[in-house]
This record gives sequence, structure tokens and C-alpha cells, in this order.
Amino acid sequence: MTEARQERSDWLQELVESMYEKHASNNAGEVATYIPELGKANPDDFGICVVTADGRIHETGESDKTFTIQSISKPFAYGMALEAHGPDEVSKHVGVEPSGDAFNSIELEPGTNRPFNPMINAGAITVSALLYDYYRDEAFEQLLGRFSAAAGRALSIDQSVYESESRTGHRNRAIGHLLLNFGMVPEDIDAALDLYFKQCSILVNCRDLAIMGATLSNLGSNPITGMEVFDINRVKDMLSIMFTCGMYDYSGQWAYKVGVPAKSGVAGGVVAVVNRQLSIASYSPRLDPRGNSSRGIDVCVDLANELGLHAFDCMNEGSSYLKALL
Ligand code: GLN
Repeated sequence: MTEARQERSDWLQELVESMYEKHASNNAGEVATYIPELGKANPDDFGICVVTADGRIHETGESDKTFTIQSISKPFAYGMALEAHGPDEVSKHVGVEPSGDAFNSIELEPGTNRPFNPMINAGAITVSALLYDYYRDEAFEQLLGRFSAAAGRALSIDQSVYESESRTGHRNRAIGHLLLNFGMVPEDIDAALDLYFKQCSILVNCRDLAIMGATLSNLGSNPITGMEVFDINRVKDMLSIMFTCGMYDYSGQWAYKVGVPAKSGVAGGVVAVVNRQLSIASYSPRLDPRGNSSRGIDVCVDLANELGLHAFDCMNEGSSYLKALL
């Protein structure tokens, strides 16, 4: 690494550490308990990791601690469904409009009966149904394999979280059956729901999430392993939907304050992606009332400001982050 690159890298590491110091004492929010097993998380856990699109890792805190990916699985599963069925077919089953409602709301788009988008549960369950329809009994293996390739290591599921959600996921089952009622999903809704519960229970740490995000910022190729993971043509679709819908009914405020595609999960993960530049991941299980990690939001707001990441920031330094390194 040249001296200038090393200096820039050290500076980013210090910035990440200063974010940890600044937000560590924020204990706003509550750990999710509606999936009983999630209630066992240590509320104080806090990790931050930034991975650049050329594969440099800057991390601090509990960046090694594993937690379940939950809804952060949704954009990646959506990318796989787009690749499997093609965008035209997928759009017959799920839309691309922000719903402005909670992630678990029981509602479909008037007129079409499609879920509004693939980031809310109704849309994600539809995507799982499309993946199950395509891969059948291989579906979970395919999904786990793809997520592992994006993270650059072999991932596995948390069996107790999976069983906990499978036992108590009545609301998601209701959504699944509503989708079946309107002919939005193929017949085998129980298998689709099982796939959905499993995909949400995949264990990741903060570093995995940041590498998965960096895979999207690096045009679909994992910047550390070099493996092509997602079709470059679909990465744009995945990022667009993360930008407009990734933070549920906070997506508008997020676009306003942070200005980059992102996705959160109820176990406390957040991942934000800056095209061709870097990815930020944070883990902190205390959630705000919308189900987004409180510290995760604060860290991303601050890092976006410090690094000039917002897509419409007139300085938009983030877009030339790597250029400055060359
Ligand atoms: N598995 C969770 C659910 O379906 C995912 C929700 C989330 O992370 N927002 O309720």
C-alpha cells in the first residue's frame, strides 16, 4: 500500500473507532422480543465495520459477534429471485413502491394485490415463494451458498432462532395465506414460509454484513475473495429497492439524512452501501419503534456526514473516496 493509501486507511479506522466512542453510551430503544429467542441478545453489544469496494476492512467493537441476519436477507434473496425468474416475472408478484407502513403490515397493493415491495415481510415471503418454486428442495442450500459467497465464508443458521420464529410466526403465516388467497404465490406456501424463516435465521457478524454490502458496492463481486456473486445487472435493482424501501417506514427520513441504499434487521444489524465505494455495517440490538437499530441509524447518519456519502450531497466526497487513494 502506498503511504497515502495507508494514511487514508488509518484515518478511516480512527473515524470508525470514534463513532464507537461517540455512540457507545446511547442506550435508546429495546431489543426485539416478538421472536422470543431474539430477546436473549445482549443489549449492550455494539460493533461497526466499514469495508471498501477494494476489500479493506476497518472495524471496531463486537464486530465478530454473530446475530441473525433477519430482514437484511431480503435484498439478497430478491437479487436471487430476479436472476432466477427475470425482472418481468418477479414484478408480476411483487412491486417496487415504498409502503410507508410497518415491516409486518398486512396489506397488499390496491388493484394488483401484489405486496408493495420486497423489503416488507409480505414482499419478502413472496420472494421466498418464488425461490422455492424455482429451486424446490435445494432452495435453502442455494440461498445459504449465495449468502456465504457474498460474505466470503461458510455461513450457517441459528437453529434456536429459526425454531423460535417458526413456532411463533403466526402473523407471517397469515400474510402467506393472504398471498395465496390472491394467487400471488404458488401453492406450497408452507415450504415458502419455512424458507423465509430459515433465511432470516442465518448467522452473520458485523464484518460479514459489511463484506456482503461491499460485494454490492463492488458491482456484485466479493472484493476479498474476488468471486462474482450477483449478476451485475441485478445489483442496480437490489440497491434501488434498498434506497427506497430498505428502512421501512423510516425510508424517507433515511434517504433525507443518510442518502444511500441500506437495509436493517430486527436482530440489530444495519448495512448501508455506497456504489463502487464502500459498505458500512453496524450491530446493536436495541431497536427504535420502527424496528431499526437505534445506534445503527446514528452511526450511519454520522458516517455519511463525515465521509460525504449522501448521493445528493453537493460535496459528495464519498463518491471519490477510492479515487483519492490512487
Ligand atoms: N424474521 C423477521 C420477521 O419476519 C424479520 C423482520 C425484520 O427483520 N424486520 O418478522
